[in-house]
Amino acid sequence: MSDTSGATEAESGGTVGTVYLVGSGPGDPDLLTVKARHLLDEADVVLHDKLPGSEILDQIPEEKREDVGKRAGGEWTPQEYTNKRLVELAREGKRVVRLKGGDPFVFGRGGEEAEHLASEEVPFEVVPGITSAIGGPAVAGIPVTHRDHASSVSFVTGHEDPTKEESAVNWEALAATGGTIVVLMGVGKLPDYTKALRDAGMDPHTPVALVERATWPDMRVATGTLETVVDVCDAAGIEPPAITVVGDVAGTRERVLQFLRNGSESEFGTEAER
Ligand code: SAH
Repeated sequence: MSDTSGATEAESGGTVGTVYLVGSGPGDPDLLTVKARHLLDEADVVLHDKLPGSEILDQIPEEKREDVGKRAGGEWTPQEYTNKRLVELAREGKRVVRLKGGDPFVFGRGGEEAEHLASEEVPFEVVPGITSAIGGPAVAGIPVTHRDHASSVSFVTGHEDPTKEESAVNWEALAATGGTIVVLMGVGKLPDYTKALRDAGMDPHTPVALVERATWPDMRVATGTLETVVDVCDAAGIEPPAITVVGDVAGTRERVLQFLRNGSESEFGTEAER
């Protein structure tokens, strides 16, 4: 049912609460924005999944939290439920934070939620966060652009099957850009898209790095090339969430590692890298 009384009047006659689509950053609570911190403190309800990470989630009082991520049985909460719940809570006059890992508008369905809220005439605000697509590589010592190595960067989902005829990601075109390729949701299909990029003519020696649980206390980094990285990740047991960086910029890590202090106690890597 849509609210015909305008965006500020609830069905009960009270004020409709605002929904804040908030990015949590990659997981280190110190990387929350000041605004995200304020909103979390003042929220009546926080709808979240697991991606913000336990360091941030543990700081939110249990009674404010509603988990709309993976359920106990392993299945995902349907997006329709989350959409409906956001509207319902706002119409109860609640101040609602929808907390999302990284930035809310980067592969996080934040766009769908914004459209739904607008169509239901619920006022909302978008609060950007540090996306793991940039912050993840950064804490691993990898700049996504570099004057000597990459003048462009592409953010893509690895979830798609690269052999699928109608794949939404054009790996061939990406290989031709000569820029950095950052893959989100890209652990499971790593063998497929590294092959797709090699088949598209990319140098098999192109550096590749995976940053697992970037900025979490147990962050790990695995490095290799388009040819070797699958074996490196298998051996290390790299799991989601992880960011894959393909491109010469991934080699920067080696040159700065000795002095890089982020996550230095919890590295995965070769002896030389430590
Ligand atoms: N909105 C998020 C992305 C959501 S899609 C953002 O801007 O970061 C989920 C994917 O994000 C994961 O599969 C993984 O590739 C990436 N991701 C999110 N948090 C991460 C983290 N702390 N470390 C590594 N990858 C992360």
